Amino acid sequence: MTLHIETPLLASAAFPGARVWLKMEALQPSGSFKLRGIGHACETRAARGARRIVASSGGNAGLAAAHAGRRLGLPVLVVVPETTSARARALLAREGAEVLVHGLSFQEANVHALSLLGEHDAFIHPFDDPLLWEGHASMIDEVARTGVRPDAVVLAVGGGGLLAGVVAGLRRQGWIDVPVFAVETAGADSYAQSLAAGERIELPAIASIATSLGARKVSQHAFDLARTHPITPVVVSDHDAVEACLRFMDDHRVVVEPACGAALALAYREEGPLAGFENVLVIVCGGATATVAQLQAWDEQLRM
Ligand SMILES: *Cc1c(COP(=O)(O)O)cnc(C)c1O
Repeated sequence: MTLHIETPLLASAAFPGARVWLKMEALQPSGSFKLRGIGHACETRAARGARRIVASSGGNAGLAAAHAGRRLGLPVLVVVPETTSARARALLAREGAEVLVHGLSFQEANVHALSLLGEHDAFIHPFDDPLLWEGHASMIDEVARTGVRPDAVVLAVGGGGLLAGVVAGLRRQGWIDVPVFAVETAGADSYAQSLAAGERIELPAIASIATSLGARKVSQHAFDLARTHPITPVVVSDHDAVEACLRFMDDHRVVVEPACGAALALAYREEGPLAGFENVLVIVCGGATATVAQLQAWDEQLRM
């Protein structure tokens, strides 16, 4: 048994150029791909004796931990900063998690969560954990089982957990030469800036609405992967990401958040780095906190 589900792989005719394959992670029960890795991490830690799950993300990582804990019959504590939206708090509560509001930023909430850890608690990091990468890699196993062999992969990058999992999955299939386009929004582009600088940089602040991409510093492992795998960083605007979400909603009748819209924005481009590829795999990573009204409001604001 796994806590995540096998998601559909859709051949989409809505994108220009190449054949585009959509891995529909938005359909995971927690609303994003995070359930793969975090579900695997929670199951593993429970098997090793953990009696409580602790997380510090008000976003999709917290939701995945809350969902996993509920399914495993373990209590879940999620410490979130005051900036966490009412909707995110409500979704966490709906999954039965205890939500503790602490501090003005993710950093403060995270420090507080770590200070509360007891001997039998499993702390779940949102992206920097080999158990997460192993769980995320299962999405590539599923693609391979359908018989599709992509010649390029497009995904969004926050702290780099999804990237690390996808590259692990590609390697497991022997697809070591399949290039990965790693997309961020401007203002959350810690990966692109780190690769350009040749060392991991820390953004002073996140200046993007794509909060799920808002890791100020990517993991060392994700940074190092660019030395051994063909990874091309791409940066799109917030407005491109939101417009891609709205267009995708009309094309495929699924709501995703701007973090996911960033990857879709690259796939929707008429020209650019995807020209020449024949089977492009796009990870539709999802996002549970987006609403149609919020996407439309952002679109209005960013148009001005
Ligand atoms: C977490 C998340 C990302 C970024 O994943 P990382 O593993 O942090 O790189 C992108 N999109 C969505 C919807 C997410 O929840």
